[in-house]
Amino acid sequence: DNYFDIIIVGGGPIGLACALEASLNNLSYLILEKGCLVNSLYHYPQNMTFFSSSDRLEIGDIPFVTTLPKPKRSEALEYYRRIQQKFKLKINLFEEVTAIDKTEFGFHTQTIKNSYTSKYVIIATGFYDIPMELHIPGEELDKVKHYYEDPHYYVNQKVIVVGASNSSIDAALETFRKGADVTLVIRGEEISPRVKYWVKPDIENRIAAGEIRVLYKSTLTKVTQSHAYIHTPNGEIILENDFVLALTGYQPNFKFLKSVGIHISEEAPCIPEHDPATMETNIKGLYLAGVVCGGLNTHLWFIENSRIHAEQIITAIKQEHQ
Ligand code: FAD
Repeated sequence: DNYFDIIIVGGGPIGLACALEASLNNLSYLILEKGCLVNSLYHYPQNMTFFSSSDRLEIGDIPFVTTLPKPKRSEALEYYRRIQQKFKLKINLFEEVTAIDKTEFGFHTQTIKNSYTSKYVIIATGFYDIPMELHIPGEELDKVKHYYEDPHYYVNQKVIVVGASNSSIDAALETFRKGADVTLVIRGEEISPRVKYWVKPDIENRIAAGEIRVLYKSTLTKVTQSHAYIHTPNGEIILENDFVLALTGYQPNFKFLKSVGIHISEEAPCIPEHDPATMETNIKGLYLAGVVCGGLNTHLWFIENSRIHAEQIITAIKQEHQ
């Protein structure tokens, strides 16, 4: 039977939190996830350490035990996997949602494999699937990457890392420590103040020691197989280059959200319309949860402060459902 009270789109931490809350309240639900379980976390850099302590990544008040001050990606994968399996959360993996239509009774959700009907839909699709592109010649080359996984790949290579936030700084430090020749290209005039407080002195010291080169107020303008062209306050610089890690952020799938009928302002930060109390969108019965709510403002929401959406939404649904 393909009918549920709630269809949840996205099996990230917040989609799982919504599922836990729904099951606690005896509402039937199914999560539809286009990749593996907690797909975004799976694609984070392999050695990543969260900026949050583990208690702040907990969902459903279930303890996340770790011996380190901040958990690593691998521990988070284990934590969310244990929750899904222990509570037998209903989730279909590798089943992408392609369309959601409002019907007389609720919603019709189409996936690449099947279709479902439900009274309510929660969209918790995050923002990690679509990278912010540089829009420069050469971006299409294989050597230009928008996701960074592991430093070994870059051993002895000339690497340019674009960006000044956590992802860029982690990648610059890790690849430097495996013997890469690293240049950071930063549009602004400083390392982001949001960089993890224990990482910031490390990068500052590497820069001060001349071990990692940094070009502030600079932009990459062109990449070829062998070189990179950089616009700097002192004119154009051309560097020999093997790889570019363009870690300049990600954005939600606005096309998908719009296709569902959610209103999104044309101007940045393009926040999808929702009531902050219930998380209901302009479409009755359709809710947003997790980091997708921030539009282009991807620093607004994270697991720590968006896990609460699960309770807000299920409370609103219960009130309606009575
Ligand atoms: P996601 O985890 O992104 O989950 C969305 C899911 O929806 C994905 O699994 C995706 O595959 C799926 N999906 C998308 N489209 C479809 C579709 N059409 N059909 C089916 N499934 C779909 N937050 C913190 O609180 N602390 C931290 O320390 C922290 N560190 C971070 C480090 C990095 C490198 C990044 C990128 C983010 C970090 N964040 C952190 C932010 C936040 O944790 C993540 O963005 C988190 O994954 C958000 O959870 P979510 O469930 O809202 O979205």
